[in-house]
Amino acid sequence: MTDASTIETMTVTDPVCRREISVADVMAQEDYRQWAYFFCSTNCRDEFRREPALYASSSHISNAETDA
Ligand SMILES: [Zn+2]
Repeated sequence: MTDASTIETMTVTDPVCRREISVADVMAQEDYRQWAYFFCSTNCRDEFRREPALYASSSHISNAETDA
């Protein structure tokens, strides 16, 4: 359901440091539970990997997240 052609002009929020970054400035990416997460640095990505559930849950508020 994502339109890849519009993604380059989008901004994303780094779930670890909460900075808003343009997709062009994304330094790292991680897929977790069907979502792609984008990070301003590999440090943030590494932090996310340590506690993905913690950061993921606060990033994408999804009504599909009912498995707690
Ligand atoms: Zn960051």
